[in-house]
Formats: sequence, structure tokens, C-alpha cells
Amino acid sequence: MKHRYLNNVTTLCLSTEKCIGCGKCLEVCPHEIFALVEEKAMIKDKDRCMECGACAVNCPVNAISVDSGVGCAAAVIMGWLSGSERSCDCSGGEECC
Ligand code: SF4
Ligand code: SF4
Repeated sequence: MKHRYLNNVTTLCLSTEKCIGCGKCLEVCPHEIFALVEEKAMIKDKDRCMECGACAVNCPVNAISVDSGVGCAAAVIMGWLSGSERSCDCSGGEECC
């Protein structure tokens, strides 16, 4: 099942000008956010990004930026990793994360 998160809130940004088409971001992204088109990365569906930061860390030319480890995305990841309840400590109530 393909998970989606909140619409229009992800901080993911891609500079196609800097991209050299190495494909690393396609390899590391757990949600298959990227595609390569004419040797340039493109974002297929930004709203499926959970802001883990793997793409930005592995891009050799810093073409990707994302604020990882913040907000609901970080809460979901930490919940998965620790097996605990996810909480981002915001006031979103039960619908949060
Ligand atoms: S931050 Fe994580 S989920 Fe989002 S595009 Fe990068 S690798 Fe994929
Ligand atoms: S990792 Fe960076 S340089 Fe490589 S394809 Fe992705 S955006 Fe382009």
C-alpha cells in the first residue's frame, strides 16, 4: 500500500540544475518519490515524502534539500523504529501523524 502524508507541507526541494542524474535518490528513497527523465531527477509525488532525509544525504551535488527529523513525518518514523506510539507533540489530536 502506498502511504500518503499531509498535502503541501513537505519541505522537499529539488534543483534540476544541479542534478547530474546519478540516480542515488531513486535508490535510497523508501517511497519512490523520484524518477529519472532525460538524465535528470524529477519528483513524481511530493506529498508522499516523509522527510526522512535519505535523498538529501546521498545526493553527491546537494541538489536536494529537505528538513528531516521534524513534525509528523519524524513522529511516524520514530514510532516505526521504536515500536512506540507516534507523537510529534503538536495539538493535532487523534488525527495527527
Ligand atoms: S526525504 Fe525520504 S521520503 Fe522524502 S524524497 Fe527523500 S528519501 Fe524519499
Ligand atoms: S542523487 Fe542528486 S544528482 Fe543524483 S539523481 Fe538524485 S538529485 Fe540528481
